[in-house]
Amino acid sequence: MNPLIALIIIGVVFIILVGKNKKKHIKREPSLFNENTGQIKALENELTIEQKTTYKYKKIDRIVSPAERSFLGVLNAILDDDIIILTKVRVADALTPLPTNDRSLWQRAFNSISSKHFDFVLCKSDDLSIICAVELNDKSHNNADRQDRDDFLRSACSGAGLPLIEVPAKNGYVLQEVTDLLKPYIENIATTQADISCDKCGSPMILRVSKKGSNVGRQFYGCTNYPSCRNIRDIEHKLIEL
Ligand SMILES: [Zn+2]
Repeated sequence: MNPLIALIIIGVVFIILVGKNKKKHIKREPSLFNENTGQIKALENELTIEQKTTYKYKKIDRIVSPAERSFLGVLNAILDDDIIILTKVRVADALTPLPTNDRSLWQRAFNSISSKHFDFVLCKSDDLSIICAVELNDKSHNNADRQDRDDFLRSACSGAGLPLIEVPAKNGYVLQEVTDLLKPYIENIATTQADISCDKCGSPMILRVSKKGSNVGRQFYGCTNYPSCRNIRDIEHKLIEL
């Protein structure tokens, strides 16, 4: 055999073998997900036990941004007590990758959602079953990396049948616009916005239905600035006034 051809063959075989070893090496990497317990295993880059007992942390003052807090007030104003609003919910707590025989692929699919969060998730208050996710989109969503994230979340939610409602962040919200976005997914949503203003803070008031206490089932007007303003008006009183 021509020595040059032999050398080329040896080179090709070597490259193939090295490639296979690399693949094996990737497969041998430990999974962060313990399939027996369903828990995430401790990361190898965590603090040591000694460091954990001495390292100090600082409390973060607020769990959401002022814009998110403002929008939470709008959701609170629109939604009744039979809906619970959760904030900063990990995507992997609302979605899970479909099972596959390719464990490496499953792991990568899980990793793709394990550190992402929905701004809000709306659940039924009786069993916390998930109704929909709500994303408040501020200007940062125009960045290229953010758009990739948003596109991925849209397709993941769509494939899983989880409604994802995207609301542009604003300084002020028209309640009826937000109500219209939520209406397809939430029964008994308040659809009537009163044309009256709160006599304590000037915010608009909306028609709500009392869900508990001696007045259960009774309609009343609630301030949309709730919970900062807890002013309510009796509906009969309002009708007499008109
Ligand atoms: Zn008010």
